[in-house]
Amino acid sequence: MSTRTCKTCHEVIYGRSDKIYCSDYCRVKSFNQLKAGDNQRLIRRINASLIKNYKILRELKTKGYVELSERELNVAGFQFDYFTSLSEDKDSKRLLCYNLGLEIVGKELFRIVELCEEESGLIPKRLR
Ligand SMILES: [Zn+2]
Repeated sequence: MSTRTCKTCHEVIYGRSDKIYCSDYCRVKSFNQLKAGDNQRLIRRINASLIKNYKILRELKTKGYVELSERELNVAGFQFDYFTSLSEDKDSKRLLCYNLGLEIVGKELFRIVELCEEESGLIPKRLR
């Protein structure tokens, strides 16, 4: 019978032949490492989508676009599921992606807005 080693710490495993970890500690540690890895990938993917949305808004604004339809934004690659905050008052509703955003101006029509740092909520309220 060959010697088996733990997948986490590489120490020799004793006991049942189907064991792949030497202890509960190593089994839990391995599971947590796997979970942390998944979260890292998820966070990277979401961050990439947010940055992509920001760049799209920046580029459209630089090109002189003011108002765009939902379709035009979709064609540009904007993903409506990814934004950093939602601001709403009696006059307007905005999806923000950092300090750039889309103000809803009509049915499926949006205006690109750029907020100063304070307006965009990048500064925590208690510091204002
Ligand atoms: Zn181990």
